[in-house]
This record gives sequence, structure tokens and C-alpha cells, in this order.
Amino acid sequence: MGCLNRDVGFGHWFGNIHLSGPCNRACYFCIGQHMMGLDSFNTLDSWPLPGIEDFVGGGGRDRGVTEVNVTGTNTDPLLYRHTGQLSGFLREAIPGLTLGLRTNGVLALRRPDVWSAYGKASITVCSFDPVIYRTMMGRGAPPNLRRILELPNGPQAVKLNVVLGPENTATEDVFRTLNVADSCGIARVNLREPYGQPHVGDPLQSYTPVKMTHGMPTYLWGDTEVTYWDVHYVEVESINLYASGNVSTTYPITLGYSPDLGEVQEQKEFPGGRIRNQWQGTCRD
Ligand code: SF4
Repeated sequence: MGCLNRDVGFGHWFGNIHLSGPCNRACYFCIGQHMMGLDSFNTLDSWPLPGIEDFVGGGGRDRGVTEVNVTGTNTDPLLYRHTGQLSGFLREAIPGLTLGLRTNGVLALRRPDVWSAYGKASITVCSFDPVIYRTMMGRGAPPNLRRILELPNGPQAVKLNVVLGPENTATEDVFRTLNVADSCGIARVNLREPYGQPHVGDPLQSYTPVKMTHGMPTYLWGDTEVTYWDVHYVEVESINLYASGNVSTTYPITLGYSPDLGEVQEQKEFPGGRIRNQWQGTCRD
């Protein structure tokens, strides 16, 4: 993910493939609702993906990208129907590829073949409390993290992304989530400041960081490294393939404005909650 300070020479480059389509969750903080120029695209059944040759060709190769993460602007990558072809194509095109997955984890147990196609993964879970989970992620129940981690041939590294909000911070629920992560042997957790919502702040700010990770403070919670992650300031660069086929080193939500993908506002202007109705298409799980 890029940052507001983009193009200032940060050394860490990676690639993102952003799929679009209906999602099996409806998170009120979904970034997709700020990238409405992509609402009309559905690439979940598409192969080859539009722009994939440009993505691995000029764009990624010029920057020495060997890590590619498959994510979604408004959908979940475990819903993608051609993961095997995508994985094979990328592994052939990019020697030493690390293929990462950014998912809500809902389908991991039902699609273990897709889950195991990745070398690393991050799972977004706002809470393991079913009520808080549903309040923040719109529908469904938290994935069974322990069973997911027991799947054979799964990704070698699994990280947890906990998107922050008043629901999981005011109640200290976020600390219970960190306890679950630690007890499951999760090595890394990111506490993510949501884009398009009022600033939440670092829940661990009263603790002493053990190090900085790409400009962000990292703490120890038991044996788990926990990094407070604010997309506005994290010091990384990315090259992005969008569902439109556009290959870009910019991530529109981090720029505050995108002439192609829609006008978005400064973070301080967001009132909180759902900004606009994002994809409400057919649930695909
Ligand atoms: S899981 Fe939530 S944040 Fe992710 S794409 Fe679906 S609705 Fe958006």
C-alpha cells in the first residue's frame, strides 16, 4: 500500500493486484467505497486479468518487485476463480516471487486449494467477538483462525490485520483480539487505521515500541509483534494493477484525489461509518 508521502524514495517496493467484484462481507470502512470508479468492474471470473502483462513487464520489473499481493478494492481474493492460473503466470514471470494474499479469511476452510496457493497471507479480522465483528464487517461471523492455521500446505506466514474503530477500541476488545492472535501463534499483527473514517489512534501508544517498521511503531504482545499501521504515513511504495487494467504507482485513496477513480476527501472530513453503499452484489460464498 502506498502512502501520502509517495515518490520520495522509500526503498520497499511491492506489487498489488486489486480484484473487483461482489464481496462476502460489507465492512463500513471498506476502501472500495472511496474508489467508486472501479465499482462497475468484476474480475472475479477473468483470466487473464486486464493489464497483467504490463504489471509484471515494465512496471514491476523496472522496480525489482518480487513480492506481489493479491487483494481486492471491494472484494475478497478467495472468491477469485483463476488463482491457479494467476499464480502460475506470476511465478513464471517473476523469479523468486513471494505471492501474498490479503483476505477476510471467510473462505479459507472451504477453498483450501486457493488458500494454499499463497506463500504468505494476511487475514482481516476486526474482532473475534461475533457482535463486534458483525457491527464492523457487516455480516457473518469471525473465521475460525485456529482451524485455518491447521490447514495443510497453507501459507508459511499468516499475519492478522485488525482494522481499528470505536467498536473494538473503546471496549478494549482489540486487546482480546491480540490475546487470541498470540495464543494461536500468530507472529505479526497490524493494527490498521481505517481510511475514510475519523482518526482512531494507536491503542498501544502507552507501551514502548521495540522497533519501527517502515516508519510505524512495533510492540510486543506476548510473542506477537504488533505494528500500528497508518496508510497515510507508512514508508513503502507500491505498483498497483487495478481491475480496470490500469497499472499505477499511485494508490488513489492515499492521494486524497484521483481523477480516474473518483474524488475523495481528506481524512479529517469524514464523519465515520458508511460513506456510500459499496458493492451489494450477489454474495459469493
Ligand atoms: S472484506 Fe470488507 S473491507 Fe474487504 S473488500 Fe469486503 S467489504 Fe471491503
